[in-house]
Amino acid sequence: MKLYKIKKSNIDRNGRGLYATKNIKAGTKIIEYVGNIITKKQTEDSEKFDNSKPIYLFNLNKRYDLDGDVSWNTARLINHSCSNNAEYEGTGLKIWINSNKEIKKGEEITCDYGFGYDSDYKQFPCACKSINCCGYIVRTESRWRINKKFKKTLRINR
Ligand SMILES: [Zn+2]
Repeated sequence: MKLYKIKKSNIDRNGRGLYATKNIKAGTKIIEYVGNIITKKQTEDSEKFDNSKPIYLFNLNKRYDLDGDVSWNTARLINHSCSNNAEYEGTGLKIWINSNKEIKKGEEITCDYGFGYDSDYKQFPCACKSINCCGYIVRTESRWRINKKFKKTLRINR
């Protein structure tokens, strides 16, 4: 039995989210974050990553990124919360969503999207309503998640 099911989200009112189908212990692998492995060059050259909406691009290593914006990547439905109960963990060229605390059956599974904090942060308001919510989706510690738009902004500022 899968540890998650897809349901209309409480956080993203227009979208869906993943919900725990049973109690999940901390440190459990919940779902793999899958997608197409592309080279940094492909990321740079692709217009797909130039838009301003949140994108599903992960930095795997010096050479490769993972483009999770594919219909078969169920993990892309996981919403951001400032009190996330799961996190992205990269091992080699794989990314797993692991619980970082106990998740109760029926709870929405959430991650920290880890967007960079800069002048663009206001384009991603957060609606998680958790006690920790700062109002926007910005990173606490997930430095390895990248957003090309933010990278570009940084480059221009230098
Ligand atoms: Zn929030």
